[in-house]
Amino acid sequence: MDLAAAATHPGRTTPIADRTQLFIGGRWTAPHGTGVIAVEDPTTEQVIAHVPAGDTVDVDRAVAAAKAAFGPWSALAPAERAAFLDRLHAALSARAEDVAATVARELGTPLRIATKVQAGLPLTVLRSYVELAGQPESTHTVGNSLIVGEPVGVVGAITPWNYPLHQIMAKVAGALAAGCTVVLKPADLTPLVAYLLFDAIEEAGLPAGVANLVTGPGSVVGSAIAAHPDVDMVSFTGSTAVGARISHLAADRIARVALELGGKSANVILEDADLPRAVKTGVANAFLNSGQTCTAWTRMLVHRPRYEEALAIAAEAAAGQTLGDPFDRGTRLGPLASAAQRETVRGYIAQGLADGARLIAGGLDAPVPDRGHFVAATVLADVDPDSTVAQEEIFGPVLVVIPFDSDEEAVAIANNSRYGLAGAVWSGDEDRALAVARRLRTGAVDVNGGAFNPLAPFGGFKQSGIGRELGRHGLDEFLETKAIQR
Ligand code: NDP
Repeated sequence: MDLAAAATHPGRTTPIADRTQLFIGGRWTAPHGTGVIAVEDPTTEQVIAHVPAGDTVDVDRAVAAAKAAFGPWSALAPAERAAFLDRLHAALSARAEDVAATVARELGTPLRIATKVQAGLPLTVLRSYVELAGQPESTHTVGNSLIVGEPVGVVGAITPWNYPLHQIMAKVAGALAAGCTVVLKPADLTPLVAYLLFDAIEEAGLPAGVANLVTGPGSVVGSAIAAHPDVDMVSFTGSTAVGARISHLAADRIARVALELGGKSANVILEDADLPRAVKTGVANAFLNSGQTCTAWTRMLVHRPRYEEALAIAAEAAAGQTLGDPFDRGTRLGPLASAAQRETVRGYIAQGLADGARLIAGGLDAPVPDRGHFVAATVLADVDPDSTVAQEEIFGPVLVVIPFDSDEEAVAIANNSRYGLAGAVWSGDEDRALAVARRLRTGAVDVNGGAFNPLAPFGGFKQSGIGRELGRHGLDEFLETKAIQR
């Protein structure tokens, strides 16, 4: 890629500037931590901004602000909280173009996709919580007991870089709607969009301390939030390894934890499926956001009689994943988020080939722009279901394809994973597809291309996590249950 051309691309007009403050107690405030985090554009490999690296003193201040705000915020009538969230929705909607362009720059998501997914989806989620927050509390009776849900308290939210605003919104909107207050630590790779959110929070006039932002390294700020005695619940999205560490920290003080972790989801294509649709949809799903999607269907399982036919369709679809500048209209695949992520993904491709996979598309030698953390859309066939590339979350544009001989075997291969986040089943017979879907040990399954539902519970079985986000289930995650006997 021509660096000068990319850096001055006409789409790159978003004003991106250094941020020097944290949002604590309802105002922008100087950090106690003296470090800074440099934010890179993974397309140009240039530093585009700096944000503060907060420290444990900043976490203490933010938690104290959230604790002080909890009483009044939780005591508001649901309709009053909904009105605040509605104002936040308006303030964030006004920034939607900046959100999309900022994520296109700090993460590299193609602008067209960023507009829909990185900016649009968080607004959809926030809208759903405006409506849920405004509904009366869900109380019910059991015999002589009145069962009520009460907000859990101060929530520490720690989020990753792959869908930076969506991952934040799934936690922050649910927690605020439930009556909790929040301390957020966003990912170091993509902190800029969090600043846009907090600009909107300031404009919406949320009461002081209800939502607080502390940027900084996970090992310092994230750990301090997870271990803080006044954080009542930690809600984390990211890698399984860090999720386990956070669980340990929270366990020491019996704090509640919600974890959204990795995935290695199976796309099961039965022999009576609409093959072109199933394969093309599967390829697009696997490569969305350069494969940096926890729910990505990264294992395509195909009934053997249609296996070679499916590989041909997959190869053609992968070849259509045009790499390039996220601001070019024709770009389907942006760079990976960082140089480290690119090297990790290339290592997995090499491992897969060394383990005997057949290269169908992409690979290590496929042409990529000469600057930026790019990896070509790669399809590996004949992959052993127990091998590394079939078992580990690669988090890059790498799809593995595995044949099977019966529905029974497809279910066994799909469930042969330490993860259980998502999946798909395709069949001309919906009852047959549903029967397979019900046997998959995952938190969600899409049958014949069923659309994403932002009101449906989202979360994983096994090492994909604990708890659910989005919709009513997501709100309930932030409630304690109380029984009052009469
Ligand atoms: P991490 O799990 O390391 O990061 C997620 C968040 O946790 C970030 O905010 C990070 O901060 C923070 N964090 C890191 N270490 C700690 C700690 N010790 N205590 C508390 N918080 C911490 O993910 P990575 O960004 O390193 O990605 C690595 C792999 O994780 C990916 O390749 C992918 O496989 C998986 N992943 C899965 C995601 C999912 O949605 N399921 C999302 C992102 C990654 P900081 O940014 O400062 O490191």
